[in-house]
Amino acid sequence: MRTRTETAQPRRNGNPAAAPAKESAIMRILVVEDEKKVAEFVRRGLQQESFAVDVAHEGEDGAYLAQTFDYDLVILDLMLPKLDGLEVLRRIRAAKPSLPVLVLTAKATVEDRVTGLDHGADDYLVKPFAFAELSARVRALLRRGASEAVELQLADLKLDTTAHQVTRRGRKIDLSPKEFALLEFLLRHARRPVTRTMIIEHVWDMNFDSLSNVVDVYINYLRNKIDRGFTPPLIRTLRGVGYMLTDERT
Ligand code: CA
Repeated sequence: MRTRTETAQPRRNGNPAAAPAKESAIMRILVVEDEKKVAEFVRRGLQQESFAVDVAHEGEDGAYLAQTFDYDLVILDLMLPKLDGLEVLRRIRAAKPSLPVLVLTAKATVEDRVTGLDHGADDYLVKPFAFAELSARVRALLRRGASEAVELQLADLKLDTTAHQVTRRGRKIDLSPKEFALLEFLLRHARRPVTRTMIIEHVWDMNFDSLSNVVDVYINYLRNKIDRGFTPPLIRTLRGVGYMLTDERT
C-alpha cells in the first residue's frame, strides 16, 4: 500500500517543455474514511471528475499518507479506528499547515463542528451527504488555494486546465475525464519519457493493478483523438519504457 514515491517540486505555470511543472496539477485527493461504502462512493465520484484519489481506511494510515505524499486536499472522517480523526487532523496541521482538509462527520452537533474547526478543519460536511455537495465543497476549497489558469501547449496542441478544454490546430477535441487527465500528465512531462507505472500512479490511483493494460488502452483512445488526421503525431511509444509526448523527430 505504501509504495508510491514522489518528489515535491515547486508549482510552476506555463510551457512544460520550458519549465518542468508539478505533476500533481492533476489534483490528488486523499480520502480517510473507514466506512468502505462511503469511501468507495467518494473515490468513484471524484475519479469521475478527473481527480486522482488515494483512500486510507484508518487514521494511522491516513495521517502517514497525508504527511508523506503531496496531496491537494484531504477528506477526513472524524470517527476512525486506530487514530481518531481529530488527532489525524492535528498531525496534518503540524506537518502541512496550508493543506486543505474537509471533515466528514456523522456528528451534527454545533460543539463537534466547533471542535473540528478549532483543530484546523477548513470545512465540514455532515453525513449523509449528496456527492454533488461534496464535489462543490472540494472545488471551493481547491479554488481557495489555486494558482491562476494554466495552459499547456506542445506544437499546435493546447490544453487549458481551467476551462477543461483541449484543441489541436485550433480545433476543439472532446476528451473523457480520464483521457483529459492522461493528456495533462503527458503534457506536463512533454519531451520526456514516462513509464506506465508513472501514469498509473498519477492518473489512476495508488492501488490500481499496474499489470493492467489500461494505460495502453487509454493511450490508444487519446491517439485517435489528438493524433489522427494531424501531423506530426505527438504520442510516441518507447518500446520497453512507456510513452513520450513530443513534436521532435528522432
Ligand atoms: Ca467513521
